[in-house]
Amino acid sequence: MIAFARACDDIAQTSAKSAKVERLRAYLGSLSEKNLLAAVRFLSGSPLAAHDDRKIAIGSRTILAAARRLYSPTDDELASAYREKGDLGEALAQVMRPPLDLDLFAETLEPATLLEMLEALVAATGASLGKRREAVTERALRASRTPREVAYVVKILLGELRIGLREGLVLDAIAAAFSADPASVRRAAMAAGDIGAVALAARAGTLDAIAVRYGAAIGAMLASPVVFGSSYRELATGTWLVEDKYDGIRVQAHVHDGDVRLFSRTQSEISRAFPEIVAALRARARDAIFDGEIVAMRDGIVLPFRYLQPRLQRVDPTLEVQAEIPVRFVAFDVLAAGDRFLLDEPLVERRAQIVANLDATETLEIAPWRTLEPGTSPDAIAELFDAARARGNEGLMLKRTDAPYVPGRRGKWWLKLKRELTTLDVVVIAVEWGHGKRRAMLSDYTFAVRRSATDPELLAIGKAYSGLTDAEIVEMTTWFQAHRTGVHGRRAFAVEPSIVIEVAFDVVQPSTLHPSGFSLRFPRIARLRPDKPASEIDTLADVESVYREMLEREGVDR
Ligand code: AMP
Repeated sequence: MIAFARACDDIAQTSAKSAKVERLRAYLGSLSEKNLLAAVRFLSGSPLAAHDDRKIAIGSRTILAAARRLYSPTDDELASAYREKGDLGEALAQVMRPPLDLDLFAETLEPATLLEMLEALVAATGASLGKRREAVTERALRASRTPREVAYVVKILLGELRIGLREGLVLDAIAAAFSADPASVRRAAMAAGDIGAVALAARAGTLDAIAVRYGAAIGAMLASPVVFGSSYRELATGTWLVEDKYDGIRVQAHVHDGDVRLFSRTQSEISRAFPEIVAALRARARDAIFDGEIVAMRDGIVLPFRYLQPRLQRVDPTLEVQAEIPVRFVAFDVLAAGDRFLLDEPLVERRAQIVANLDATETLEIAPWRTLEPGTSPDAIAELFDAARARGNEGLMLKRTDAPYVPGRRGKWWLKLKRELTTLDVVVIAVEWGHGKRRAMLSDYTFAVRRSATDPELLAIGKAYSGLTDAEIVEMTTWFQAHRTGVHGRRAFAVEPSIVIEVAFDVVQPSTLHPSGFSLRFPRIARLRPDKPASEIDTLADVESVYREMLEREGVDR
């Protein structure tokens, strides 16, 4: 591990990316096959392949205990080293005592031996796992004969090298070391889900033979924001498609040989939270990796994100829970189909591949999209936006039809259009009976702000259909009935102004409709604020300042 540590120290000390890559190239080029596999895995931050779910689970406590046994540092020594370095590896490097014996048979550590030890550890099962972890840690430290080795062995065990090396740079260095095409190396890394395997393939010239590995999450492509109502200069070049921006959770679905796995944006597996989606994909999708969003749905309308939250917190939901909060997977991209990666295909082609590989059902939808005519006006975009909002969605996504799928990147190929959500704390002054299923509930609230901090006069500013949960609405209905103060139109009545709510909205504008002189566009009740007394709600001055800010922002953006 001496050479590994030296290379890492050099890399940590250079800031230029190209210099880091060059140093790493030289190091990787010098390694045997086994050490190469281990070293690149360590450099990428995890000794195990990315597609491997197992955990090494050696924590700082185990490492500290082993270090105490081996080096017998005083508590003061340890504490001050840690305080000085702020990194356990560096601190232990400082307190380590190099072995005095010149035992010719003492074990020295190479990347490959360290990896073998760790792989044996994760493969082990049984009751004495804790003991095994201790033994492996102690052996690794004992075989680290210099302070720099100790520093890096500890960092590897903890899974963080902190030398300013992102995986992309390791991949570039692999390409440079073995004269491979950097794009092929990146592609293979996504396919293999194991950077070690990619390094070996690059060295052997067999990158093309690496096939799609299902079950290893690929980084999600991200969008850059565009400002609502701007002139949309970004759309001037290329052809764009427009689709709804769904307010749910991003999910990558891997369907392979009857096995379906769902991954969240953080690449953790969430299949068990959504059994109905797993079942639907198993029945209705061909082998492919789909990208999309899971949304909560009721009566064909997408429900706000918070309805999904209880589903997220629950593994193996009961049928009742599944019926209470129905969910749908809306696919908007596909990354692979069968053995073929589609990342470099243009979006329109990938769109066609979704249709070819997925049959829509109640639970599976292919996100509808349309091409944006060149020169579409901001007003026309606002109309599309409003239509998306009317469907319960958050806004629009604009995507270039020739865009490749670039994992893990936020680029200009995808643009997201939503409106700033500003919220105001207001008090409910009148309530109205709902319609349909909510006929027996007081579900529409009229709310007001205060004239000023010193003047308690309440000035109505808007009305919103309650976005609260059914249970909350029922509870509030009882409360409002008991605190009725007068009439307020045919189906409504005034109530004691005590219930404070937080309302979100898209735009505030001057209006003669309400006594406050302002109205809100798309007001929705974000939550109840039982923690806030009505005397502390927002004032007219707050509304005016939100309005001014909004004007300024628009002025800048236009
Ligand atoms: P944001 O979370 O506001 O940064 O917006 C990016 C997120 O929008 C993505 O990570 C997706 O989860 C989500 N999203 C919703 N609808 C789409 C869509 N049609 N295409 C891409 N991303 C979408």
